[in-house]
Formats: sequence, structure tokens, C-alpha cells
Amino acid sequence: MSIDPAAELPFFYGSISRSDAEQHLKLAGMADGLFLLRQCLRSLGGYVLSVVWNLEFSHYPVEKQLNGTYCIAGGKPHCGPAELCEFYSKDPDGLVCILRKPCLRSPDTPIKAGVFDDLRENMLREYVRQTWSLEGESMEQAIISQAPQLEKLIATTAHEKMPWYHGKISRQEGERRLYSGVQPDGKFLVRDRDDSGTFALSMMYGKTVYHYQILHDKSGKYSMPEGTKFDTIWQLVEYQKMKPDGLVTVLGESCLNGKAAAEKTPNLPAPRPGRTNGYTPAPRADGAVSKPANNVPADRDVLPMDCSGFNPYHNPNEVRRFNIKRNQLLIDEVELGSGNFGCVKKGVLKTDSGQIDVAIKVLKSDNEKLVKEEMMREAEIMHQLSNPYIVRMLGLCNAESLMLVMEMASAGPLNKFLSANKDTVTMENIVNLMHQVSVGMKYLEEKNFVHRDLAARNVLLVNQQFAKISDFGLSKALGADDNYYKARTSGKWPLKWYAPECIHFHKFSSKSDVWSFGITMWEAFSYGGKPYKKMKGMDVMRFIDGGSRMECPSACPERMYTVMKECWTYKHEERPDFKKVEESMRSYHFSVSNKAKPEEAAAAAAAAAVAEPVE
Ligand code: ADP
Ligand code: MG
Repeated sequence: MSIDPAAELPFFYGSISRSDAEQHLKLAGMADGLFLLRQCLRSLGGYVLSVVWNLEFSHYPVEKQLNGTYCIAGGKPHCGPAELCEFYSKDPDGLVCILRKPCLRSPDTPIKAGVFDDLRENMLREYVRQTWSLEGESMEQAIISQAPQLEKLIATTAHEKMPWYHGKISRQEGERRLYSGVQPDGKFLVRDRDDSGTFALSMMYGKTVYHYQILHDKSGKYSMPEGTKFDTIWQLVEYQKMKPDGLVTVLGESCLNGKAAAEKTPNLPAPRPGRTNGYTPAPRADGAVSKPANNVPADRDVLPMDCSGFNPYHNPNEVRRFNIKRNQLLIDEVELGSGNFGCVKKGVLKTDSGQIDVAIKVLKSDNEKLVKEEMMREAEIMHQLSNPYIVRMLGLCNAESLMLVMEMASAGPLNKFLSANKDTVTMENIVNLMHQVSVGMKYLEEKNFVHRDLAARNVLLVNQQFAKISDFGLSKALGADDNYYKARTSGKWPLKWYAPECIHFHKFSSKSDVWSFGITMWEAFSYGGKPYKKMKGMDVMRFIDGGSRMECPSACPERMYTVMKECWTYKHEERPDFKKVEESMRSYHFSVSNKAKPEEAAAAAAAAAVAEPVE
């Protein structure tokens, strides 16, 4: 998984050595201003810019600052490596010369992965495992969708979650803990030194405990005296497991803190704190987005994993139910929405382990058999699906009317949310949400289900950062050997969302869902706009058959419009599948979320301009 913000640059080589860099520059002709970018092997997230001038090489370390900006020592901060290189291609600003000519990577030279790429991956995993008690598939989904946000979190708080972190204990207590039990070389712990916010590392070597102060410099970096500098304690510890970097030996086994030691025995993950049953609290009556009650710090956005709907079957003993008894359900008068079938009401499901907020699709009582069967089919489909980005069904209740009980997505349909919150929802936010939708659709594609009604109105939000695909009323499971569903009659179809082969040949496949995904993206990036304006379904057909496509919504990034147009490839054989679409969405999502926001970069620049020189 590449999430390096420079991964897209054709002159970025990854984790190559200085001499390899010089070799590439020599082969490319040593012209003045010839340059390439590589990963810095010493600082995490940093780069080195290698430039040729006068047949000589200059190597400039590019540091990643804690606020997410990048700069060459003494230079201006920039919001990404691409922006930094663009700047130095116009203004030498202290370099030997301007960057004139990128030394392009040849197709047979892949970006070289570095040791820290794996390390970072492991750090993310460990953090997700510990913070949200996620494992397996739900952990993978969390990491795929939120890697950039997770990296930021790790940078500041990860050490607190680590088994080797003992908080504020005295030097003597540290020694006592290290001497208890086995005493292999390298056994270590990290503790707070005092109230000054600095840390100490205590480690065992030759049955003796050594203590080291971890230095914290003015720029916020941690290091051993004369050692490599790191943004976080965690990175420092991981690095010293590989290299002693000033210590008597490399770090080995963690001396477990009380919590980690207690958790070592049970084989089931501990229940998540502060929750009754793993579900979010009820939304406020005014319809405002409910914030989960658990401990989300005020200074960060709620992540999907903070919401219990991300992984409700966390407790393996709590089996998914299908038949729900009427006395387990409290039905509110509040209507969340309505349709031909009846209406969707807010409610509460009572279970052994607590109450769950639910949305209940209630069939009109006087409905005939056919509609009832349709709803049963919808339930049948939903019952087979379990993914964080798909609304889960909890069961059916057959009482005064047939009711389909689903998990609640209290912020409502995406199109309505976006048109009501134009001013507060950023483009990055929309990219994140649409990436989540692509993850959910990729899951459907893998399971061989076709949705047939993917549209912004059927993407529901749990909150501003968490989307779920809903409304499986038209969905079909494909047979093992089929890759499309053939509708015998055309019903009330959302033609504007349908691919040409659906309309002309009644053929539905994951590829036709891809077309609808493109339309859904268009709706999202136009903040809930109506596709094809006032055109009628038949006009749209002619428009598409004639080779025309909708234009790029005004605030939509070019890269996202490119994905939309790919989704609108006329021939389904040539159209990308969701595997490909999700990749495109992910790479763009990671690249925009990794960058500092322009205003942050500007603030950092202003701060740098007034900063006093540091001796
Ligand atoms: P239809 O087949 O009529 O389009 P939907 O399943 O899309 O039915 O539901 C209709 C409306 O009910 C949605 O637009 C939404 O406002 C509300 N709704 C449906 N499911 C949920 C849910 N799980 N959580 C919150 N609201 C929901
Ligand atoms: Mg709907």
C-alpha cells in the first residue's frame, strides 16, 4: 500500500541510497539543474532532493514538519513534495541552482520501498488494533479508508497505547519492573521523566538497568543524545529496535505495563470501553449529527472506527439475528423517509446487551403480497452483507406490518446532507466519503451482488466522515457463473443513473453499478446537484449515445472528473471495475489527505518568518 505523497511524481525513486541517486543522475547526462527526489532514510516522512550543478551533486534533506508541511532547512514550508519541487524550479532560494530538468524514472525502475514503509504499516495496524480493538477484515477496511488520518493520530498519541509505555513512574520503579521476571538484554520500557513532558528510556543489559534521557528539541523532535531525530517516541523506539543509535544495544522485548500484562492472558479482545453494546447513541431530536459518546478527543474529527456501526459484531457471541420479536422494538413516530413501500421510522432495538438505535422500514399495512415478497428479497440480500460501508440489516419483524430493521445512519442521504452543508464540507471530505462508497461497492462486486440503485440519495451518512450504501430494494445476487442480471421487464428505473446496456439490453452487472458510481460522484462533487438538469430520461439516452457526458462540477478536482469519465465508458467491457475505481479513489484520497491545507501551510510560513534563529 503506497501512501507516500510523492509516489505520483515521475522523478521520485523511493528509498534509494545517495550513491544510487548519483548513478541515476550520471546516466541521465549530468545537465545543470537535473534533479530527482528520494526518500530520506533517517527521518520518517522526509525526502532528499538530489541536484546536479557544474558536474557536481548536491543533496538537500527535505523535512516533514509536524504540521504536515515540507521544507528544506532554512527554506519556506510547502504543503507537499510536488509543490516544493515546483517552487524550487522557479526560485533557487539558496540551492545551487533552480531545478531545471527532472531525472525521470524509467518504466523498469519501480519506486524502491524503504524499511519505514513496512514499519509504518505495522504501526498503523498496532494502533488500530489497540485503539478500536479491530481485527481481520474490519481492521483492513479501517486502514484502507483512513490511513492518512491514522498516520496523523499516530504521530502524536501512539506511544500511550504501547505495551512498553509505563506513564509516570520513578526511576526506581522502572528498575523494579525491569528486574522482575526474565532479564534478557534489550528488555526496555519508556516512562515520563517528571511533569516536564520529557521521557526516559530504561533498558536491561548484562543484568543491569541503564537509563537514558530522551531529548526533546525546540522543533518538537525526539532523539537520543547525538542520535537520529524523530517526530514521535514510537518511531524512535521502533528505529532503536533495529539500530542501537547510541544505546548499549538494540531494544528487544517490551517490559509490559500493567494494562498490557493484564491483557496478555485472555484470548478474546477486551470490550471497548464506554459502550453498552457497540452502538452509537441516538441522534438528537433536531436531526443534528450525533457524536459518539466514547472518548473522541475534541481536537479531531470523528473517524468511522469511532462509531460502533463500523464493526457491530465485535462480540462474537452476539450473533446476528434475523427474526426480531415485536416486544424487542420501540418504534418512534419520527419518520426518517418514505417511499412507495411505506415509510422508514426511527426506533430502538432492545437486546440482551443493551439498546441499539435503528431505522425501521415499515411496509404499508394494506400492501399486497408482491410488495411483501420484494421486501423479503431485500432483507435476504442485506442479510448476506457485512461491511462497514454498507448499511447492515439487523432483522425482520413481522407484526402489525412487515418491518425491516437496519442500523441507523442518522445524518441522512448524502445529496441532502451536501446541499444543506455546502459551506462546511470540504472537497477532501467528499473525496473521503466517495472513497468509502467505492470500498463498499468493491465488496459488493467481490460478493457478486449488483446494487442497481446506487445514487447519492441511497448513500446514507452516519456522520460527516462516515458513509454507508443503502437501499437494496432493486439489488440482485448473481449466480456463480453469471456476470450480469437480465431484467425481464423495465420497471420504474432511475434512468439517469443507468449505463447504456441497462437501458438498451436490460443487462445489469457490477460494471453498470460502476456507471452509477460515476453519476453518484458527480452528485457529490456538485454538492447534491441534480444530474442532467431538467433533461428527461429519453433525452439523456440520446445525449449519452451521441457521445456527450456531463461536465466537471465547478469545485471538482480534475483527477476526480477523470474517474467519473472512466466510469462513463460506453462499452462495459472497457469500463473499469470497482477494484480499479477503488484504487483510483484511494490514491487520490491519500494524496489530498496527506497534504497540509493551504491555510496551514501559510500559517507555518508566517511562523517561520518570525521565528528566532535557534543556536
Ligand atoms: P426507497 O426504496 O423508497 O428509496 P430507502 O431504503 O432508500 O427506500 O429509504 C428511504 C429513506 O429513508 C432514505 O432516503 C432515508 O432518508 C431513510 N432511511 C432509510 N434507511 C435508513 C437508515 N438505515 N438510517 C437512516 N435513515 C434511513
Ligand atoms: Mg432510496
